[in-house]
Amino acid sequence: METAERVDVEQLKERFATFLQEQRYRNTAERMRILECVVEMPKHFSADELYVYMRTHGEKVSRATIYSTLELLRRCGLVVGHRFEGGSTKYELAVRLPNHDHLLCTDCGRIVEFCAPQLQELVEQISQQYALRAVRHSLQIFAQCPEFGRCPYQRELAAQ
Ligand SMILES: [Zn+2]
Ligand SMILES: [Zn+2]
Repeated sequence: METAERVDVEQLKERFATFLQEQRYRNTAERMRILECVVEMPKHFSADELYVYMRTHGEKVSRATIYSTLELLRRCGLVVGHRFEGGSTKYELAVRLPNHDHLLCTDCGRIVEFCAPQLQELVEQISQQYALRAVRHSLQIFAQCPEFGRCPYQRELAAQ
């Protein structure tokens, strides 16, 4: 999704700072640095991947701090966690989220984002049927590459 590329880090940091203040958490340089790195990560990442990324970029941050900060970012609404089947929780920036769902290959773990307006209509229709107003939804479709050995993503992984 092309909307992903323009993320205003300063604006996110301001929101996070306000949240920390309101909830009486300390606003540390480390927490802000973690948010900056979240923005630099690929769209979907695990806490461990973020940890490895930060360590390889010379940041002295502990796993525990990453986990607790991701939890704060989640509560602040800046980050969304997806519990994809078979793997660890993958996070992504909420601003990158609007109206996309996920298709997952259960063989190679590839995550594809798609946007289906028909689905949005269906969500609204079903909610209305039960006299509710849809706020958000989450759909995961589990799938498989037609030929495992020929999965381009699988080959990419093997080459790493
Ligand atoms: Zn696959
Ligand atoms: Zn996504």
